[in-house]
Amino acid sequence: MNKDTVQNGLVVSMEYTLIVDGEVLDSSKDAGPLQFLAGHDNIVPGLEREMIGMKIGESKDVVVSPEDGYGEFDGEAFLEVPRAELPSDMELEVGLELNVTDEDGENQIAFVESFDDENVRLDFNHPLAGAELKFNVKVVGLREPTAEELDHGHAHDDDHHH
Ligand code: ZN
Repeated sequence: MNKDTVQNGLVVSMEYTLIVDGEVLDSSKDAGPLQFLAGHDNIVPGLEREMIGMKIGESKDVVVSPEDGYGEFDGEAFLEVPRAELPSDMELEVGLELNVTDEDGENQIAFVESFDDENVRLDFNHPLAGAELKFNVKVVGLREPTAEELDHGHAHDDDHHH
């Protein structure tokens, strides 16, 4: 296997800028390059697909549509739950991210859309659902994953363990 291009099963380090609606939402400038394990759903599918085959040092602009990014906005993906079902010591605020377990035992991320004394309305859309994502990415490193990374299905870096 040729290891000097981005391909499934390698850990990719990339510098990136994410622009949505003309505004920079996220960038590696502050935190440093992002590492991901290609082929393991670590990044949005539309970006990963365009990065396959890139070489170290290569950069690219990639536009990702909602269906290849964080999904289309789903107006039905809201749920109102009694406030009593949430931990009583939880400080609610709009936009708060919650881990919710559904009836099938699946973990899902939800965001508090609104709340009152009785009920909390949860939004199961990703905050970037429906958004067109414009990435500028540059591949700055490629390496084999460790056994632990393969086992976990994601990349580890020095100060970011899961
Ligand atoms: Zn891990």
